[in-house]
Amino acid sequence: MPSVQLPSIDIPNSPPCIVCASPNTVPVFEISALPADTIRLWWSRAAARSAPKAKMGLTYCENCGHLFNRYYDNDLVDYEEDYENSQIFSPRFRKYAEELADR
Ligand SMILES: [Zn+2]
Repeated sequence: MPSVQLPSIDIPNSPPCIVCASPNTVPVFEISALPADTIRLWWSRAAARSAPKAKMGLTYCENCGHLFNRYYDNDLVDYEEDYENSQIFSPRFRKYAEELADR
């Protein structure tokens, strides 16, 4: 069977856990540009497409199990009037809420 040569991946030094401060963290997933505000209602397609983007690096803590974005930057998130975190627009969430209320 021929051997497979995997591409080398540049794994950055992993920061300590933001919950328990353990140094035992492992990079899990990285993507170069995701919308920084994930719960914002954009009023036009053009505005949505030009939304600020940021790098995401999911990192897992082997001590407490917390998963966090090591590149999270609170200054990129804007909790003003266009921010909408209601899930009631989702049919799946409405069904879940109705089933919860019927208990
Ligand atoms: Zn931890």
